[in-house]
Amino acid sequence: MINNEMLKLGQERSAIRELFEQGKILKQKFGDDKVFDFSIGNPSVKAPDIVNESLVKIINNTDSIKLHGYTSAEGDINVRQAISEYLNKTYDANTDYNYIYLTVGAAAALSITLRSLVNDGDEVIVFAPFFPEYDVFIKNASAKTVIVKPDKNNFYPDFDDLKNKITDKTKAVIINSPNNPTGVFYNEDIIKKIVEVINKKNKQNSNDIYIISDEPYRELLYLDEKYPFITNYYDNSIVTYSFSKSLSLPGERVGYVLVNKNCNEASNVFKAICGAGRSLGYVCANSLFQQLIPYVLGVTSDFNIYRKNKNYLKEHLEKIGYKIINPDGAFYMFVKSPIDDAVLFKDKALKYNILVVPSNSFGINGYFRISYCVDYDTIVNSIKNFELLYNECLN
Ligand code: PLP
Repeated sequence: MINNEMLKLGQERSAIRELFEQGKILKQKFGDDKVFDFSIGNPSVKAPDIVNESLVKIINNTDSIKLHGYTSAEGDINVRQAISEYLNKTYDANTDYNYIYLTVGAAAALSITLRSLVNDGDEVIVFAPFFPEYDVFIKNASAKTVIVKPDKNNFYPDFDDLKNKITDKTKAVIINSPNNPTGVFYNEDIIKKIVEVINKKNKQNSNDIYIISDEPYRELLYLDEKYPFITNYYDNSIVTYSFSKSLSLPGERVGYVLVNKNCNEASNVFKAICGAGRSLGYVCANSLFQQLIPYVLGVTSDFNIYRKNKNYLKEHLEKIGYKIINPDGAFYMFVKSPIDDAVLFKDKALKYNILVVPSNSFGINGYFRISYCVDYDTIVNSIKNFELLYNECLN
């Protein structure tokens, strides 16, 4: 008998991937330019030139054994040092490279982090709406997902609900800013509020909850605001990061876990991270792309393209009547469904060759997500169909 849980996961496929596959079929039938696929967060802006230029340099100048060989399980020491120096310089963060573990993307970073922290029956809090894979990774680490609802006025967490949901079993709280799926950014005040609630509960329950800050969209911010780096606000914190979105390299699978050196038993936490990496088979992230990192720290793809998409889409959808949560960052827009049932809305949208993800996938009802990391023509040409769809929903 094979593992039923894994069978179920494999059979179900995520709703987002399912839509993405449907989009491909529709494109074959109607043609690429007639289908408006806003389902998946696959960057549409090319990686900056320095990525390929540096890769060529690295390939030409590095001994083949070093280039393609295993690095240390936690990653190349020079790369870890470069990341730490960059974080300290950019965020005044006081990180230590000894607490950085390179991973195959943020997905592995999250899986490793959760596996290293939780024991059977522990609870991990996520803020709805949330990246659906959190639930998969939490369950795989034998913990329970506890959902805190949003304040629907701004899509920050509902702080009263957070207070109520923290128990003596809470092991970690995952935060994600700028957020997938809302694009909402947690400024310093919001981070301080989250920390305040958790600190109070830590005292009451004699607990030490971890904050896991999942930051693949850290640099993708449309506001001129400083990113509040979590280690500067809370000791028991861990950052999971990825170069997938900042550099448009999602298929290359490179990211990291950073353990705050001031967290409780930091050295043991890091050892557990190494243990989880080992147990999950994630030792040694892609070597070539590890070597790339020191050349590209602080560089990003051209986010102005996403900004242009966002502005056009927001202006025109609002004109039609759609209600949009203001996106501060990332490349997602969260929109109130004109009908209560967001799954039904998704089905209606398909009739107009529009692919959007219903919010049920993200832990709440009544909204849909648009991934606007697509080409500008797709955005412009979609508006007419969005209007027809809206009108159908009103009738
Ligand atoms: N976390 C969030 C919030 C994401 O949106 C994603 C990917 O879309 C990930 C983690 C996983 O990132 P990666 O592709 O680096 O594994």
